[in-house]
Amino acid sequence: MRVAIIGGGISGIASAFYLLKRNHEVDLYESKEQIGGRAGSDLLDGRWVDFGGKNIGKNYIRFREFVETCNNPEFEYFGINTSQLINGRIVKLNRDGAKLYNLIKVIHLCGLPGFIKIYPHIKAILHDRSQGVLASDHFKKLSDQSDNLTLAEYLPRRCIDNVVRPITIRMNGAEPDECYPGNFGSNLSLVVDSYEQLVTGMHQLLNTFISRHINTSLKLLKEHRVISVTRNQKSLQIGYRNPEGTGTEQYDRIISALPAHDLATLLDNSLPEAANLFRQINYFPVGIAIVKYKNDVFPENRRAMIFDRDSPLSNAGAYGINDLNMVRYTYSGRISRSIITEQTSPETVIGLGETIASPYFNIAENCKEAFVYKYFSKGLCGYSAQHHLLLEKIDRIIEKMNGFGVTGDYRRGASIEACFRAASECVDNVIGD
Ligand SMILES: Cc1cc2nc3c(=O)[nH]c(=O)nc-3n(C[C@H](O)[C@H](O)[C@H](O)COP(=O)(O)OP(=O)(O)OC[C@H]3O[C@@H](n4cnc5c(N)ncnc54)[C@H](O)[C@@H]3O)c2cc1C
Repeated sequence: MRVAIIGGGISGIASAFYLLKRNHEVDLYESKEQIGGRAGSDLLDGRWVDFGGKNIGKNYIRFREFVETCNNPEFEYFGINTSQLINGRIVKLNRDGAKLYNLIKVIHLCGLPGFIKIYPHIKAILHDRSQGVLASDHFKKLSDQSDNLTLAEYLPRRCIDNVVRPITIRMNGAEPDECYPGNFGSNLSLVVDSYEQLVTGMHQLLNTFISRHINTSLKLLKEHRVISVTRNQKSLQIGYRNPEGTGTEQYDRIISALPAHDLATLLDNSLPEAANLFRQINYFPVGIAIVKYKNDVFPENRRAMIFDRDSPLSNAGAYGINDLNMVRYTYSGRISRSIITEQTSPETVIGLGETIASPYFNIAENCKEAFVYKYFSKGLCGYSAQHHLLLEKIDRIIEKMNGFGVTGDYRRGASIEACFRAASECVDNVIGD
């Protein structure tokens, strides 16, 4: 079959991976000059660095299968070694390898009532990892019972402030009062994983995949913005705009691998009812700066710090286990939204991060050598209340355009592994067995 994929981010690449495995012909449309989407690689002082998708869980089974087919590049252990600022006090969150210490720490931070409420959900994930995604059976049930409340209402205050908020602002860009219990499983599954990083980064991995398949079954159409998807009696049609003008192309199948808000814009004319439903899925801004300093900023035993709710800086951490002189500053959450916008200059944003983090790390006396910065106005997905019901409604409408499928970070969760799982399910659905 000839299949078009719209979007060259992780979800689009994952869809291409599963289609090529089944020997289909794939055209991958990407509106920008570069693939990778929100993984957003950039050159820092001659080295490719990644903004998103840096941490790869040991339980990322599908993604690791993909990695193996791309010359199997090396991973390095990253671990956690994080501290958190709680009411002006530095609290060491966890120690590498110290399971009992870490468990007691979590119970202490959550408070017993909070821990008792969260624990059955952690247990469900540990028992069956496939439950730790959006719209799994366990979390559908929780959603039906409790999504009339926000996470902030569902859990005790101490648990929210000390444990849940640092998770939601990092993974959803959202405050706990903007998130819902039924979706929290996709976050919890990441919390109970442990992490590694690709030594040579995501940029090289994705490009290895593309170069392996290009000129055979894969055509990469960079700078091709898809502007319409329609169906006539015989086939599906894509309308696109590229630097030379506009054009159309026919396909047997089409997969959208766009974030919900971009897909809503694309479907406004052909499936307006679905477009309106996609607009109910909330995305939140995130700013990320990666700054290289002359000397080490972090000590080895404290490579990151989570800041509290009064700070626009949500966390600052070492870029890699051996990059203690490179800081990844992340800005997300409500306060950050009120201070940082698309117009704020990178220098201002980085200066703000340095002022906040310098009392805890070697920044003030250090020399800044280079930086890269990105601001995603719709960077992290916060989903919606009763998200699984919304997805079911969307699927009923999408089905009407036979041969068209949709995947993305709003289907199974935002992690790279969840994007791979959603893509695999979408390909199964669209192509059939
Ligand atoms: C700051 C940040 C840190 C993260 N860290 C991690 C992490 O450590 N570990 C982890 O597992 N996950 C992480 N994630 C999550 C993960 O990186 C994202 O969920 C994933 O990259 C999303 O990929 P996507 O393909 O679904 O969407 P996108 O990356 O948004 O891809 C969509 C693509 O479609 C293109 N496009 C848009 N409109 C059109 C159009 N009309 N026609 C053609 N192309 C179009 C865009 O240019 C883009 O390339 C992070 C995310 C962010 C933002």
